[in-house]
Amino acid sequence: MEQGLISNIQHYSLQDGPGIRTTVFLKGCPLRCRWCCNPETQSMEPETMKGTVTGTWMTVDQVLREVEKDEIFYRHGAGGLTVSGGEPLMQGAFTLALIREAKKRYLSTAMETSGQGDSGFLLEIAGLLDTIYMDIKSMDEAKHRKWTGAGNAAILQNIVQVAYLKQRGRLILRTPVIPGFNDEPEKIEAICQFVETLPPGIGYELLPYHRLGRDKYTGLDRDYPMEDVKLPEGRIETLRAIVEGHGLGLWDYSI
Ligand code: SF4
Repeated sequence: MEQGLISNIQHYSLQDGPGIRTTVFLKGCPLRCRWCCNPETQSMEPETMKGTVTGTWMTVDQVLREVEKDEIFYRHGAGGLTVSGGEPLMQGAFTLALIREAKKRYLSTAMETSGQGDSGFLLEIAGLLDTIYMDIKSMDEAKHRKWTGAGNAAILQNIVQVAYLKQRGRLILRTPVIPGFNDEPEKIEAICQFVETLPPGIGYELLPYHRLGRDKYTGLDRDYPMEDVKLPEGRIETLRAIVEGHGLGLWDYSI
């Protein structure tokens, strides 16, 4: 039976998709973004954070039994299961099995992915999902490599492929806005121009940089690489105006 290495299952999440979600964080990520707020999910091995081991092998059924404890919250909205990480494609076979079984149980499904991973798994999983969130961090290949540990070519290719599968608000592209990496207007302008080449109806949003993962680095006995960094006042508003100027934004889920 397929097993996945789970970092955490978060109940009653309001940030990870439409409605009230139960978010399953998988371990393992091929990237090493400097700003990562879930550093405990990067390694494909269990590890100790703040004296507690993070990383438990679970079957699809064990995960869904935990998810279904929240079913009452899904009844009056668009809530359901969100698979996140880490990078869910690092455990592609498990993620596919989990989403397939969740659909059999009539659960709404979403996934958050960096887009860095096996295209075969990605497209198969994307075809089943109700909503997929994909990061689009930068069009600047060299900077992408320097700040995340990998170039952006495979990610952009994967985005294009998913964009032809998922339209009308079911693919949402997101840019985490990181000071010094991609917070200049021309960087967001370049991303908007790329998004405009995709089929219509793709959602796009900016996520402002935050420091919520900072304590986890201490817990893992690692240095926080983004100490003393913050977004300049008014920057996110300026960048959002660029996005709106391109007619990009989020779709209404009820459509
Ligand atoms: S892709 Fe996400 S989980 Fe992976 S290192 Fe980057 S921010 Fe962290």
